[in-house]
Amino acid sequence: MTLHRFFIPPEWIDERQVTLMGDVAHQIRRVLRLKAGDRIIVLDNTGWEGEVTLSRVGHNVVMGRVVEERQSSGEPRTRISLYQALLKARRFEWVLQKGTELGIVEFIPMACERSVVGHLEDADRRQERWQHIIREAAEQSWRGRLPVLRPTMLFPQAVQRAVGCGGLQLVPWEAEETVSLKAALTGDRGRGNPPAVVSLFVGPEGGLTTNEIQAATQYGAQPVSLGPRILRAETAGLVAASAILYELEG
Ligand code: SAH
Repeated sequence: MTLHRFFIPPEWIDERQVTLMGDVAHQIRRVLRLKAGDRIIVLDNTGWEGEVTLSRVGHNVVMGRVVEERQSSGEPRTRISLYQALLKARRFEWVLQKGTELGIVEFIPMACERSVVGHLEDADRRQERWQHIIREAAEQSWRGRLPVLRPTMLFPQAVQRAVGCGGLQLVPWEAEETVSLKAALTGDRGRGNPPAVVSLFVGPEGGLTTNEIQAATQYGAQPVSLGPRILRAETAGLVAASAILYELEG
């Protein structure tokens, strides 16, 4: 049976003794109806995971003991940051959930020239909900670390930040006719090691402007094609991330 997994604050783990409170305790007792003797997995968000046998399932507190520990196997070697233009909230949530399953390590919501004002306003109100979606997806998909959700950035700032992070900066652009994603990845590989860090920039429903593409190129980002079909804004980043991990992690 697959054990339920929970990201918990590291201070809940003392040597091998684990004390679970709040939502996690509620989930264990009321939702999953686990009992003393049942096992769960706890994650401290460093990549470490511990298998825990529950010793006491109380009203507000659940106690247990770590009986086995290991490094989580769910983290990709290639660190993909997805700079995703804000979308209708439901679609953005879908990107966070699926992106977490796929192995993206960081999400940066972006405001672009063609962003819809309502979507930008939504972003502030939804931080907590979005963190929750990421956590659930990370637990479900056996991630060893929670992907980080950054505050919203303007497109040029976002590109600058990504350049500072090193690695490859790729801008999927439907008008790019010569450089494919694969060429951009393998070209870099030809020159040395495969990139350890990849920053992906995906525009809003209306696309990125030529102005934005020019600015990104000036900073050193590479526009790439994801093929001859136009993908929706919520599809493009996920497709690119899957293809990158397929190419680089096998
Ligand atoms: N310009 C179009 C489509 C925008 S698609 C329009 O005006 O409707 C939204 C985003 O998805 C784009 O900004 C781009 O980052 C990405 N995208 C979609 N299809 C793509 C493709 N075939 N190649 C590269 N990027 C693509």
